Amino acid sequence: MAERVFECKRCGFCCQGESTVSLSSEEQHQIASFLGLTLEDFLSTYTVKRGKRVEMKTQNGHCIFYDEEKSLCRIHPVKPQPCRQWPLHPSILKDPESFEIIRRTCPGFSEKATWEEVKKLLLEKA
Ligand code: SF4
Ligand code: SF4
Repeated sequence: MAERVFECKRCGFCCQGESTVSLSSEEQHQIASFLGLTLEDFLSTYTVKRGKRVEMKTQNGHCIFYDEEKSLCRIHPVKPQPCRQWPLHPSILKDPESFEIIRRTCPGFSEKATWEEVKKLLLEKA
């Protein structure tokens, strides 16, 4: 991603909260394999079911895979699609206000970044 528009500050804000994103079946297998676990052990140790969704657990108010000391994701190479995509969420395409809502929660966007520039980045990555 162009540095002038976005540079992750590794603040960890996007990994905070009492819920996380859901994992596809493929992602469950990938993460289990990355951690050297069977699927069953991975699911029972690191995930929670919410209806039909399988989510990563939270711990101390953040995703269980967020390393507070190092400010990084412990499963970075296999992190789920919404985490890889963030903060370029498709809702940004809707209107400038939708971009402003995301910008307020992510300090990585340059103050100079315009909606048009961010939209362009998002479309390039689609
Ligand atoms: S909130 Fe933004 S700047 Fe902070 S870690 Fe997440 S992507 Fe990076
Ligand atoms: S998987 Fe990684 S990037 Fe995604 S919420 Fe958890 S710690 Fe953050």
